[in-house]
Amino acid sequence: MDVYDKLRPWTKIEACECASVNGLLLVDCLTDNPLHCDFCRKEVDPERLQLTEKETESVASWFSVARALYRLWLNSGEYESYAKACLLDPNGQVNRDGLKAARTLSAKIPTRLWFFSDTDNGEPTHCPICLNELDADVKWGTGTCNSCGIQL
Ligand SMILES: [Zn+2]
Ligand SMILES: [Zn+2]
Repeated sequence: MDVYDKLRPWTKIEACECASVNGLLLVDCLTDNPLHCDFCRKEVDPERLQLTEKETESVASWFSVARALYRLWLNSGEYESYAKACLLDPNGQVNRDGLKAARTLSAKIPTRLWFFSDTDNGEPTHCPICLNELDADVKWGTGTCNSCGIQL
């Protein structure tokens, strides 16, 4: 990434080219679209998924807060610890909204919320919501909790 890219609009969108999308991840990859194919992890346009207005708004509402907090955390300044605490809190607004968006979308296509973890705290081994052991059989990240619908 070029330093100038930090001040430029996001243009190099890597779109999913899978024949069909069978699962989604809601994940902030520092782009404008958090809808990612769970197979190739590239972006999936909401129009391709034929998301309803309600489904789209649910994702957009979660993402506006999630991306703001994630950027505050990345900035490593005065707001870093605040942002991290919000992102780690399973009962906080950002995660409640994210889980709700994932559940809403799951009625159409299985969707998992990519849950925040800080590698400074080591690899996550347990689900931060139900505290059960994560299923490590994943293509992306370190594990998944099927009952909570999250991935880390
Ligand atoms: Zn794909
Ligand atoms: Zn869980």
